[in-house]
Amino acid sequence: MTLDQLDLLLSQVQKPARYTAGEMGAVVKTLTPGMLRYAFCFPDLYEVGMSHLGMKILYGHANRRDDVWCERVFSPDADMQTAMEEMGVPLFALESLDPVKDFDLIGFTLQYEMCYTEVLNLLNLAGLAIRAKDRTDPFPLVVVGGPCASNPEPLADFIDLVSLGEGEEVSDELFDLCIQAKKEGWDKPEVLRRAAQIPGIYVPSLYDVTYNEDGTICTITPREGAPAVVSKRVITDLDSVYYPENFIVPFLDIVHDRAVVELFRGCNRGCRFCQAGFLYRPIREKSFETVAKDAKNLIESTGYDEIGLSSLSTSDYCGLEPLLDSLLDWTEEKHVNLSLPSLRIDNFSESLMEKVTRVRKSGLTFAPEAGTQRLRDVINKNITEQNVTDTCRTAFLGGYTAVKLYFMMGLPTETLDDIKGIADLAQKVVDLYYSMPERPKGKSVSVNISVACFVPKPYTPFEFEPQDSMEALREKQKYLLSCVRSRKISVSYHDSATSVAEAALARGDRRLCQVVEGAFLRGSRLDGWDDHFKPLAWQEAFEEAGLDPDFYARRRRSYDEVFPWDHLDYGVTKAFFIREHQKAMQAATTPSCFAGCNGCGAQRLTGGVCKCI
Ligand code: SF4
Repeated sequence: MTLDQLDLLLSQVQKPARYTAGEMGAVVKTLTPGMLRYAFCFPDLYEVGMSHLGMKILYGHANRRDDVWCERVFSPDADMQTAMEEMGVPLFALESLDPVKDFDLIGFTLQYEMCYTEVLNLLNLAGLAIRAKDRTDPFPLVVVGGPCASNPEPLADFIDLVSLGEGEEVSDELFDLCIQAKKEGWDKPEVLRRAAQIPGIYVPSLYDVTYNEDGTICTITPREGAPAVVSKRVITDLDSVYYPENFIVPFLDIVHDRAVVELFRGCNRGCRFCQAGFLYRPIREKSFETVAKDAKNLIESTGYDEIGLSSLSTSDYCGLEPLLDSLLDWTEEKHVNLSLPSLRIDNFSESLMEKVTRVRKSGLTFAPEAGTQRLRDVINKNITEQNVTDTCRTAFLGGYTAVKLYFMMGLPTETLDDIKGIADLAQKVVDLYYSMPERPKGKSVSVNISVACFVPKPYTPFEFEPQDSMEALREKQKYLLSCVRSRKISVSYHDSATSVAEAALARGDRRLCQVVEGAFLRGSRLDGWDDHFKPLAWQEAFEEAGLDPDFYARRRRSYDEVFPWDHLDYGVTKAFFIREHQKAMQAATTPSCFAGCNGCGAQRLTGGVCKCI
């Protein structure tokens, strides 16, 4: 695309800065013979994609090589897509403005199921066939990664390769394979066959799936030398792995506009609803010296005035207090804020609060997830009502007057008593505040209850569980509102018109490709956005394919059923998930891994035990 064409396009859109590139930190290279061109696509808007840490890491990691040029591609918003279609401009990469179809490798990161139609939209906008079998040239190859790559079957017909696990570990081998394939002129079947030999690379077209009469999967059989089971790739030592010293600094506000450092991967807790907690096991921490160095590098190179500490459970990081001490030594002086998401309610100590208070002025957010002890035990949250009230007391003593509490609705075994328990817990927090003579004078308290719908996910102990119906969830929402008595308590819902489609796709098989395509052909794209989601398009697509969303979303699955992802190994074993599911049904808890290994199986991927135990 020429700059004149870009000017014309930009004159027709609301936020041109999404499409101009040229930001500080963007990588522009001179093309050299044999250089591999890699389009890293985030199937959502610029503001969302640019906030994603994984993309920043993998962009820098690929571009550290002289023989690879990785560029960014985000979804155009509706105004830009219309303008591009009217002018006949195909999807282009930001750094070079070159058409994506001319690249060698097109990578999509799949962060959530509701981006699947957008993957098809971007392939189509690029001028490529959406079905992999119709793209007969070896390049561009379409590869997906990210958490939803753990069950990529609903996209199996559209993609060439799937990268399982941590991209820094496998991408060099994939780049080398592509460079060799281009040099030696391999055809596409040969590229796919050889790619399937790289550990951590799954090639869906090399597997045949058969079904039982009841619609469940009978067999998944590899062909042409592909492995029967593909195991994810895992970084053994997070202290020595690549981490960017520089981030691209956008020209417009994005969702998370700050420097971010990573504390650890995996999670020691084992909350039974949480896919990320299991998907990223085994637990591996970075030393606090490495994190402190990463933070300093990023603040110096970007000029950001905020650092986020990223992990699944920040207050579980073993070196948190020394890290905060070492960061506060210089961040306060430079007026750099620290942001600590994902704090646990059971280890929020007074000294941690004192440090957090020095850098945070806003309210505190905690996630009890369920309203009663019984249900918190079912989900293995391992926190008590006492933990909640103790932490809130500490927070109120520290001057906080606003607390946000996250819950889920529709959890396995949930009853109306559990729903009432949400309101009761919030009320106890309100009552606690007013019972404290030391509370901040002259200020009232505010407790916000935020409730999301539970969606059962693969690779969790609840992968066997049916999802609640929308009707049942709506009734529970109404009931919760009727239980709230204080005006100090507000309730917000992450209501989810998308949650049935999300649940069906999360545990779906490759027959759902027809549904994803059908929804896309009916105009679905950017389904994660309420103003884009078209429930009717999905309903019609399911009907046209002769498939029932409830078969995928609302069916209880037996322990011996073959799941669509059973041939993809993310470390934690199915036997462990079955054990955990059985314990959940008895409301029995499993302790933190820091009290001793619970035998989930993930440690075999790093050849030992988890770090920090
Ligand atoms: S291997 Fe053991 S310590 Fe590591 S995550 Fe699994 S259960 Fe926890």
